[in-house]
Amino acid sequence: MTKSVIIVAGGKGKRMESNIAKQFIEIGCIPILMRTISAFYNYDNNITIVVVLLKKEIEFWKNLCQQHNFNIAHKVVEGGKERFFSVKNGLQYVDTELIAIHDGVRPFVSAQTIENCFASAEQFGAAIPVMKIEESIRFVEENRNYAVERKNYVMVQTPQIFKSEIIKSAYNQLFEERFTDDASVVENMGQAIFLTEGNRENIKITTIWDLKIAETFISEK
Ligand code: C5P
Repeated sequence: MTKSVIIVAGGKGKRMESNIAKQFIEIGCIPILMRTISAFYNYDNNITIVVVLLKKEIEFWKNLCQQHNFNIAHKVVEGGKERFFSVKNGLQYVDTELIAIHDGVRPFVSAQTIENCFASAEQFGAAIPVMKIEESIRFVEENRNYAVERKNYVMVQTPQIFKSEIIKSAYNQLFEERFTDDASVVENMGQAIFLTEGNRENIKITTIWDLKIAETFISEK
């Protein structure tokens, strides 16, 4: 089946305490977003790549690509106010049988994770990578908190991959606050989500601490 990936990088990154958006920060001299795009290109150099950016950052990104001689072909489109609207806009520019949606700030996704999700999405229609939780976890409410069974929970990563007709009709729904990823949007239509194994390094670089971890991964390579 034909494949595309929508890489969403239209967030403001308020948690990073940096004046440059987190997807443009360099690790090992290469901006995070270039590393993310390369991960998909290295997996399959025929994949269609769409990158979603804030309108005001598009020019900056184009200059950055020139400076770094970055020439993996990709289409740049404008993002929206919430991740939901960034994805919805990106979907207008892809026309393949399978569509992956990936966070621009997850540069360490492995080829195996990408392959697991494409293969399962082809079979089941909707597939996402997850990891077991190693910590103990608690349910927290206003006046109380209590331990819950950690084996009943998993951590969700991207890419989240779907058959085209499933993801496109899911994004015709109205936006809800609880739609924090694509699986939550698709599931709301009654579609079951198949879980595949992710990879530990596939972290979402969100805070200064994540950046330190990312630098460690690069220095070990
Ligand atoms: O905000 P959050 O950490 O969930 O963002 C996950 C990904 O979605 C990031 O790569 C971010 O750039 C992207 N995003 C977006 N448009 C928004 C908000 C987030 O493309 N309006």
